[in-house]
Amino acid sequence: MTFQLPGQLATQPTPFYYYDLALLDQTLTALQAAAQPGNFQVHYALKANFNLPILARIKAHGLGADCVSGGEVQRALEAGFAPDHIVFAGVGKSDAEINLALAADIFCFNAESVPELQVLNELAGGQGRRARVALRINPNVDAHTHPHITTGLDANKFGISLQDLAGVVDSLDSLPHLELVGLHAHIGSQITELHVFAELSAKLNELQSWLEGRGHQLPHLNVGGGLGINYQDPDAQPIPDFAAYFGMFTQHLARRPGQQVHVELGRAVVAQCGTLVSRVLYVKESQQVRFAILDAGMTELIRPALYGSHHHIQNLSSQGVALPYDIVGPICESSDTFAKGTLLPETKRGDLIAIRSAGAYGEVMSSGYNLREKAAAVYQ
Ligand SMILES: *Cc1c(COP(=O)(O)O)cnc(C)c1O
Repeated sequence: MTFQLPGQLATQPTPFYYYDLALLDQTLTALQAAAQPGNFQVHYALKANFNLPILARIKAHGLGADCVSGGEVQRALEAGFAPDHIVFAGVGKSDAEINLALAADIFCFNAESVPELQVLNELAGGQGRRARVALRINPNVDAHTHPHITTGLDANKFGISLQDLAGVVDSLDSLPHLELVGLHAHIGSQITELHVFAELSAKLNELQSWLEGRGHQLPHLNVGGGLGINYQDPDAQPIPDFAAYFGMFTQHLARRPGQQVHVELGRAVVAQCGTLVSRVLYVKESQQVRFAILDAGMTELIRPALYGSHHHIQNLSSQGVALPYDIVGPICESSDTFAKGTLLPETKRGDLIAIRSAGAYGEVMSSGYNLREKAAAVYQ
């Protein structure tokens, strides 16, 4: 399979995000085919991409929603996700955000600290409700991914550390407006070494037994998200290996009879269906470097500048002989660089450039820096 831009988009003003909804549908079909036999509940992490046409497809395939802000809870409700399929995580939930989610009667709060549980208890009491909570634990499992997207180590701000867990569980006795329904963990993103999920399962098994010893039966376990995708060669693997991913939990997680296992996937669902399409403004050659200067920059896709991430980049207009280019944007920052020394067919002003695998953490992180206009999103 090779990438092709639908012909009618050749005249679309650049830069723009192009979303391949057929690929999104195929991905969702494959995801649910892998999840449903094991009775896994899949929640889509809205923060990866919250465009309404994308959410509509995701909802149509029967996924729930994983939110990390009040705005995302509201967006999930607008997109038609049922409140009892919405979960809400985040280390810094504000009172207003908690109240909004309580009023909507969402399925579960993934709570990350004792002070948060106290506020949640108080606000739930104020609304005359009991909030369902899962304790987000920090299992101290190394996700073997980029340090900026690792979240499950002791040094990270997320979750309740194992040393603090006993105290947190004790504190629940004095928080009558909370109902403990599960354990939650999310250890990082772009995880490609699947054995990490076996280690996570082992930690959760231990904690589950320990909680049962204290009289807490858990109807739910939530193992978070983080499944990685193939950024190097998206055409070789447009759809992640969901069967292998769920297989890790089927094999390693000690599920109790009737217990529901929830996952929260973002990147693996939407990354490959999105492409940032740009045009070359200038080719600038110095003695050392040949720059291809694009009309898209870190304002449209910040991942390379923020994490040093790799995206596969293609020149859709040229068949020329391959030359190395530093591919940069127009923004007044030296980190506004998509790639260095990338081989492209000989490139000239006006050539169309595709920056692949940009559907997750792309458009959602765009900014108006340099007073840039927001790039359009087109769906085919
Ligand atoms: C970001 C996030 C996810 C999704 O992560 P992906 O790597 O995109 O799958 C899931 N759960 C929580 C709590 C998150 O913050």
